[in-house]
Amino acid sequence: MLTNRINTLSESITIAITTLAGELKAQGKDILSFSAGEPDFDTPQVIKDAAIAAINDGFTKYTAVDGIAELKDAIANKLQRDNKLTYAPNQIIVNNGAKHSLFNLFSALIDTGDEVIIPAPYWVTYPELVKYCGGKVVEIQTHDTSGFKITPQQLKNAITPKTKMLVITTPSNPTGSIYSKEELIALGKVLEGTKVTVASDEMYEKLIYDGTFTSCASISKDMYERTVTINGLSKSVAMTGWRFGYMAAHDTNLIKATKKLQSQSTSNINSITQKAAIVGLNGKADAEIEMMRKEFLLRRNEAVKLFNNVERLSVLKPDGAFYLFVNISQVTNDSLSFAKNLLDKQLVAVVPGVGFGSEGYFRFSFATDIESIRIGIKRIEKFVKENY
Ligand code: PMP
Ligand code: GLU
Repeated sequence: MLTNRINTLSESITIAITTLAGELKAQGKDILSFSAGEPDFDTPQVIKDAAIAAINDGFTKYTAVDGIAELKDAIANKLQRDNKLTYAPNQIIVNNGAKHSLFNLFSALIDTGDEVIIPAPYWVTYPELVKYCGGKVVEIQTHDTSGFKITPQQLKNAITPKTKMLVITTPSNPTGSIYSKEELIALGKVLEGTKVTVASDEMYEKLIYDGTFTSCASISKDMYERTVTINGLSKSVAMTGWRFGYMAAHDTNLIKATKKLQSQSTSNINSITQKAAIVGLNGKADAEIEMMRKEFLLRRNEAVKLFNNVERLSVLKPDGAFYLFVNISQVTNDSLSFAKNLLDKQLVAVVPGVGFGSEGYFRFSFATDIESIRIGIKRIEKFVKENY
């Protein structure tokens, strides 16, 4: 008999669709997949070299649970340099990807009945982890008409005495929207005097095309003290398979608690990845990171232009990340059937908006080559014309 806890958990729809597309492709079908939240670039060579050196040097044993000192220093330096945030080593923990950081964070903070505010559309993992921890998800719905961002008033209305946490993802997966400094300051003001912790997921920080990135914790002393900053290298440095993420928090007790959990579950992350991650953080791979960002920018511009030429479809130009959240509400309000039939009839994989908590959209990842993007959008256009 499985536990109720595990039975309430749904499989990650982003991973499920990406896996299905991969299987169909392996069967020889001409699948074009825009479902993966994963750069198509290889990890920069300087990072691979650091990993190879670590293996050859025999750096292959257990390490400190929360990460080696050299890596935690690299994270602290990165947070200081890029985000003007000061964290000591005991305010930082290294995890097996940012997904694991979130799991540890939610496990440490969410008790049965605690409310967690999640702006929708959201990344699929947040509500599942909240439910798994016994918490209650409180969604704030946003739309393309408001740039997919919550307002201070919406936040105010959502807060109750049971609110434990607010999740902010900037730039957003799945919409690519970025909160400006002024918008974060306004949201921060609403939180003043409350006990709400902010989980700030900054995974796409380096993938910015328009506007400026601001780290939640950097806007005021109050926000610094209540924010847990989550980040990693999967997206910006093309290191999804290496499994590296981290969180930084003012509250050393919180970091200590997650370290305790990690010591009884996964222990340290892969020792070789730790050596590689240092190079991803210390600026030595910056030229490659910038090359990837520029390529994503070209693809974004092309994909937005093409989608907005398709009758009855529309898309906001995302400021960051590598996703388009395409509005299909003039075509259908059943994004799941839309995505299933699109895969069936045109061999194109996208993720239905309903998986991100917002009907009437689908997510299209432009982390794939520009030629596939062009052909894929043509196929989507044909599909819409023939079926709706
Ligand atoms: N946060 C966001 C918003 C994401 O899109 C992802 C993608 N997987 C993650 C966290 C987790 O990334 P990872 O576990 O690969 O570090
Ligand atoms: N975060 C990525 C995505 O949204 C990878 C898949 C996952 O971890 O859910 O597609």
